[in-house]
Amino acid sequence: MDYQRLFSEIAIELSEIDDLGNVASYIPELQNVDPKKFGIHLSTIDRQDYSFGDAHEKFSIQSIAKVLALALAFELEDDQLWDRVGVEPSGSPFNSLVQLEYEKGIPRNPFINAGALVICDILVSRLNNPQQEFLEFTRKISGNSQIDYCSRIAESERLTSFRNAAHLNLMKSYGNIQNDIEAVLDFYCHLCSIAMTCKELAQGYLFLAANGVNPITNERVLRGSQTKRINAIMQLCGFYDEAGEFAFKVGLPGKSGVGGGIIAIYPGHYSIAVWSPKLNKKGNSYRGMQILEFFTTRTKSSIF
Ligand code: GLU
Repeated sequence: MDYQRLFSEIAIELSEIDDLGNVASYIPELQNVDPKKFGIHLSTIDRQDYSFGDAHEKFSIQSIAKVLALALAFELEDDQLWDRVGVEPSGSPFNSLVQLEYEKGIPRNPFINAGALVICDILVSRLNNPQQEFLEFTRKISGNSQIDYCSRIAESERLTSFRNAAHLNLMKSYGNIQNDIEAVLDFYCHLCSIAMTCKELAQGYLFLAANGVNPITNERVLRGSQTKRINAIMQLCGFYDEAGEFAFKVGLPGKSGVGGGIIAIYPGHYSIAVWSPKLNKKGNSYRGMQILEFFTTRTKSSIF
């Protein structure tokens, strides 16, 4: 398959369709991005790489980082983790508080904000310096020392994090947050501020396509069975309340972020990262979803 040519064809076809949606603005710094950015990077487990467009430019990966936070917490806690967070799709917006009260402070899954905040609480309990150690974990599994937080974005989210603070307070009232709320919130905002390129994302998350071992570094990140579980959660919960639509159109496990990035995994084959900042009404990259729909259709590489 000539992937390079396929990417050019996809770009041409998409340029004929309006890029609807809006760049995220509820975190003020996120609106300073050029809405026309468009990047794709494919990494295969047999070590081939294909880039297109703005694939080498860093952007704010936002919720895509929640996958790595889950990987580290899963490595540390193993199955005890599931006492504090579920594995079911929420069917609600990523920052909804409603379900959390009905379900007594146990978030539906680790990718909605409430669940990711519980994961952050676990990492704050387990690590001496969560911010530094999480960054080291990310750099190690990606084999890339260039990955870093963006303090501008972290600060901007921290100043407007009233709803995440509400999640933390509600969960603390049910005993599902053990640390100081400010410390957890600060770590969460840093986690979401990580900046990566499409290439770094595809390569860093390739372990999810390769049974838990990153083929680039030969580093085992998780056991095969743990990798299977993370992919399953991505499939069911990786796209806010649009996970069904993503499964329907793209047919791969994946995770999106409000910075306009999406990572998708074809287990046993490849990881692919795309970036286009305009988001649809559900908070997923409008064009990113289209790129992946075209890609898996043309390459016949969906898991279904
Ligand atoms: N930092 C963002 C928030 O908490 C993450 C949202 C996302 O990318 O889904 O609102």
